[in-house]
Amino acid sequence: MLENKIALVTGAGRGIGRAVALTLAGYGADIAVNYCGSEAKALETAEEIRALGRRAILVQADVSVQADCERMFKEVTEQLGTPDILVNNAGITRDNLALRMSEEDFDKVINTNLKGTFFCMKLAAKQMLRKRYGRIISLSSIVGLHGNAGQLNYSAAKAGVVGMTKSLAKELASRGITVNAVAPGYIDTDMTAALNDAQKDAIRSQIPLGRIGQPQDIAETVAFLASDKAAYITGQVISVDGGMGI
Ligand code: NAP
Repeated sequence: MLENKIALVTGAGRGIGRAVALTLAGYGADIAVNYCGSEAKALETAEEIRALGRRAILVQADVSVQADCERMFKEVTEQLGTPDILVNNAGITRDNLALRMSEEDFDKVINTNLKGTFFCMKLAAKQMLRKRYGRIISLSSIVGLHGNAGQLNYSAAKAGVVGMTKSLAKELASRGITVNAVAPGYIDTDMTAALNDAQKDAIRSQIPLGRIGQPQDIAETVAFLASDKAAYITGQVISVDGGMGI
């Protein structure tokens, strides 16, 4: 489904990013594995991709730093080729109630989740415009669509990702580039690991499909949007949340 395609996945060392990288590789893509701090985990991801018979490179970059993103795209282009697929997955949380939220925690989340996505979108679009082909997929969240107490900063960033996705889709549609977002519900990763059993039960009770999602649930949707099967889909936000947002 993705043979001969080159994909850059941000935050691909662990969690959803890792599942996305392995799934795209399983469908035939070569992968640039971006990480920020988790080098050992990113190495594991790259080794698993190579075991699938695909090419993999590691590229360290903090997506909230524009110069890092520029260096990352340069390294990917030199070592693997220009990306056909960009998956903006890197993300963080710094939760607190609005009245207690510091400017630092607001900025940190916006800079990583929103600005980092903007930097990568811009750099990818520049290369994709030249080849008149591209797939840009960004991770939003159910929280970006519905809000969540304690996550004002995160929901603002994830709602912003939806706005950027729709705007960029309109800018790039005539050049064969699609731009979409995936909005996960609660997915079992390090990001949600701090929840205790009672909190997990409470969340599960709000999920019509009756289970917390797995990274693979998100990865398969990203792979579909990255493929030519999704050629007529752009500017969309696909919720993958077990029905939680209905
Ligand atoms: P996770 O397990 O906490 O992993 C976060 C990933 O983001 C790591 O690979 C991390 O890389 C990377 N990252 C963080 N800051 C970065 C930076 N400045 N530059 C580059 N990479 C950075 O999170 P996850 O659950 O897999 O989440 C992945 C995406 O899905 C995020 O955008 C998140 O907001 C979104 N999402 C998650 C859920 C959920 O329930 N888990 C729900 C909705 C949306 P290093 O480890 O190398 O630093």
